[in-house]
Amino acid sequence: MIARRAAFRHPAGAPPPRTAVLLSGFRRQTNTKTFVPTSTNYRWLEKLQEYEPQSIAGSLGQLLFLASLRMAGMPRLDSVGHSLVVTFHTEQPWLTSEDRDELWSAFGVPIYEQIYCASGLLATECIAHDGLHAAKGAQWTADANGELWFREPLSWWEERGEAFAPSGLFGTVEAEPCECGQTGVRLRIAGPVQRQTLLRTRALSAWAQVA
Ligand SMILES: [Zn+2]
Repeated sequence: MIARRAAFRHPAGAPPPRTAVLLSGFRRQTNTKTFVPTSTNYRWLEKLQEYEPQSIAGSLGQLLFLASLRMAGMPRLDSVGHSLVVTFHTEQPWLTSEDRDELWSAFGVPIYEQIYCASGLLATECIAHDGLHAAKGAQWTADANGELWFREPLSWWEERGEAFAPSGLFGTVEAEPCECGQTGVRLRIAGPVQRQTLLRTRALSAWAQVA
């Protein structure tokens, strides 16, 4: 859930492919449509299929759930030929190589990563797939243990002071220019600070109930 009705920014740039966004809170914009997954009926899945998205953006649990459905042949989601965008919230489990394999074998499309906090985007991968660019205004730093800390863009934290918050991810902050031409720092994520297997299992089982 994004609190500020920000525009969804596709990692591949503008104009975005036709994208189904499974997080609520983004404002309406061309070529993206928000779907609100519910565990009480299948209607949202039918609507998702009807939209014929070229790309789907959602949490890791949501995308793994769709991958398992696709492998089982329902729904097929054959229109997804562009990409998947995994949207992480800070302190959520990070993508493992097994997750990546599972998404790849189901959809066979590039996977992009984005990091959000409740108020919006903090970092996003780009077409170079070589680290995550810090979102405009967001600041990132690594502590002595190698954990990445973030500060939301100025306009968001005005009322809350200048504190940095821990992201739950290990990584480094680098400043070399990116192949894509964007400037600013990039994050290289090494993995989660703790393997939050319990949290992950709960998220997956909650999604499994939809099936
Ligand atoms: Zn780049």
